[in-house]
Amino acid sequence: MTFAVHGLPVARGIAIGRAVLVVSSRIDVAHYFIKPEQVETEIQRVRGARNAVADELTKLQASVALMGPSEAPHELAALLEVHQMLLQDEALSDGVKHWITDRLYNAEWALTTQLEVIARQFDEMEDEYLRERKADLEQVVERMLHRMKGTAAVLAPTPPKRKRAHADDDEHHDPTTDDSVDAPLVLIAHDLSPADMLQFKKSVFAGFVTDVGGRTSHTAIVARSMDIPAVVGARTASQLVRQDDWVIIDGDAGVVIVDPSPIILAEYGFKQRQGELERSRLTRLRHKPAVTLDGERVELLANIEMPEDTLGAVKAGAVGVGLFRSEFLFMGREAQQLARLPDEEEQYLAYRRAVEGMQGMPVTIRTIDVGADKPLDGKAARQEHLNPALGLRAIRWSLADPAMFLTQLRAILRAAAHGEIHLLIPMLAHASEIRQTLALVDEARAQLDQRGAVYGVVKLGAMIEIPAAALTLRTFLKHFDFLSIGTNDLIQYTLAIDRADEAVAHLYDPAHPAVLRLVADTIAECRRQGKGVSVCGEMAGDVTFTRLLLGLGLRSFSMHPSQILAVKQEVLRADTGKLAPWAQSVLEAEEPAALLSAPR
Ligand code: PEP
Ligand code: MG
Repeated sequence: MTFAVHGLPVARGIAIGRAVLVVSSRIDVAHYFIKPEQVETEIQRVRGARNAVADELTKLQASVALMGPSEAPHELAALLEVHQMLLQDEALSDGVKHWITDRLYNAEWALTTQLEVIARQFDEMEDEYLRERKADLEQVVERMLHRMKGTAAVLAPTPPKRKRAHADDDEHHDPTTDDSVDAPLVLIAHDLSPADMLQFKKSVFAGFVTDVGGRTSHTAIVARSMDIPAVVGARTASQLVRQDDWVIIDGDAGVVIVDPSPIILAEYGFKQRQGELERSRLTRLRHKPAVTLDGERVELLANIEMPEDTLGAVKAGAVGVGLFRSEFLFMGREAQQLARLPDEEEQYLAYRRAVEGMQGMPVTIRTIDVGADKPLDGKAARQEHLNPALGLRAIRWSLADPAMFLTQLRAILRAAAHGEIHLLIPMLAHASEIRQTLALVDEARAQLDQRGAVYGVVKLGAMIEIPAAALTLRTFLKHFDFLSIGTNDLIQYTLAIDRADEAVAHLYDPAHPAVLRLVADTIAECRRQGKGVSVCGEMAGDVTFTRLLLGLGLRSFSMHPSQILAVKQEVLRADTGKLAPWAQSVLEAEEPAALLSAPR
C-alpha cells in the first residue's frame, strides 16, 4: 500500500530506489560495503563472534547451575537458555549471511540489519511473552557486536557498482521491476553521524532519509555535498519503511513515498527527468565568470570535507575553497581502525593534497570544529555533554588541548609552502580566545623554525558564528585579515534553536530580522575597513538569499560545489545597484521572508 512520510527537504531532486535500512544500535556500529572477496571473512567474523558468545553463555550456565536458588533464581537459568536458542536461531544466521553475500554489507551492519528484521516480527506478535523476547535478542546481538570489536577489516575503498536511478533511463522503464541486485538503493536511517555519512559519500546511494536532524545539521550538510536527494527529520520513516521497499524521495518537497503505485511512479519519473534537464542546462555556465549585470565581480568558492572534494570543486567552476571542514579528517577513525587523531604528517599531506587539488587557487582551511553534532567517534560527545552545542566545541576544544592544536597549526603552515592557504578559526567569541589563538599560531611557527622546517605565509581569518562575535566586530577586525560568516551557527545561537533538532526546525529561520541584521552589519563593517568577508554557511548556497546578500554588499560566497552553478545564474541576472536599496528595505521588514520570495 502506498503511503507518504513528511520531513524536511535537504538536497534537491528525486530519487527512486529500494530501501536500505541502517538501524541504530546501542553499540556504535560502522556501516560500509565490503569487496566480494571479503564476503567469506565477514561471514567468519560473525561465526567467530557467535561461537565466542555461545561459550560465554555456556560458562555462565554452568556457574549458575552450581549456585543455590538464593544466589541465582530459576529465571536466570531459563533466560540463559533462551539466549542460547536465539543465538543459534537460523533466522538470524541466514539473514546475516544474506546481507553480507547479496548486499556486501560489513558484518556489523548485516547483524544489526537482521536484528531489525527479526525485531519487527517480534513486535507484530500477539503473545506478550514472545513480544518481550525482542529485548533478549537485542542483548544477544550486542554481545556478538562486542565480540566483533577490533576484528573489522579495513574499509573497502570502492563500493560495489550499482545503477543510480537516473533521468537518462528509458522513459517508460518501471524501476520497480528491476531485480534487487541491480536496482538503485536509497538509505533510510533513524540517525546517522556525519562520519557515517562521509563513508556513504564514497558509495552508491541514490538518496537518503533520516528520522532526525535539521536542515543544517552536519549530517544534512554532508548529504547536500553528495548532491543526492535527501530528506531529514522524517520522524518515523525508519520504523515504517522495510528493507527492500520501493521508495521515492522528493528532496524538493521533503516527502518520502513508500511502495508507490505505477501512476505515482510515472509522475515522479517525469519530475526527475525535468530536474536533470535543468541541471544539464546549468552546466553551460561552468566557465562563465560570475559577474553581475552592473559589472561586479563575485567570488564563488567551494565548501569541502575531504581533500578529494577539490576535484568536484574545480569541476563546478569554484575559484577556490572557502571552507575546508578539517574536522572530517579527525572523525570516524575508530571504525577505520586508525589512530585516534591524525598526526602532523598525515594532516600535512591531506592539506597539501587539497592545495594541489585546487591548482593554484586559494584554500581556506578551518581548524578543527568537533563537538555538538560532530562527535569524534560515533555519538559519544552528544551523550557525554549536557548541552554539546554550547559546550566544548571548535576553538574551545582546540584551546583546551594546545598540543593537538599546535600539531594542526604546524601541518597547515607547512602545507602553505605549496600554495595559498587562508587559516580560519571557528567559534571565537572572546578577546582572550583571540589572543590565545594568535599566540599558538606564533608558537607553531617558532616550533617549525626550530626544526628548520619549510612553511608558508597564511592569511588569518575568524568565523563569525556567535552573536557575541558579530556584535564586537572591531575587536575581530583588529586581529584578523578576513572574516567568514557561519550562518548555520549564527542562526542557531541567535534564535536559540538547535540546528540538529527537527522538533524546533520550523523556528530555524535564516530570514529572521535579527539574523539578517547581524549578517548585514558584518558585511558592512568589513567593507568599511577594506577587509575580506565571505559567507560560508548554507545560506550562501541557497538561491533564495543570493540577491539579498549581493544587495548587502557580499561579493564572496562559499557553498557545496553542486550549488555553485545555480547561484552563478542568480549572480549573472543581478544588478547590485538596484538590489542595494531593496536589501535595506528587506532589513527593515518585520517578516523579511515574504519579500525574499516575492517575484522580481
Ligand atoms: C556555519 O556554522 O555556518 C559553518 C559554516 O560551520 P559548520 O556548519 O561546520 O558549523
Ligand atoms: Mg559553524
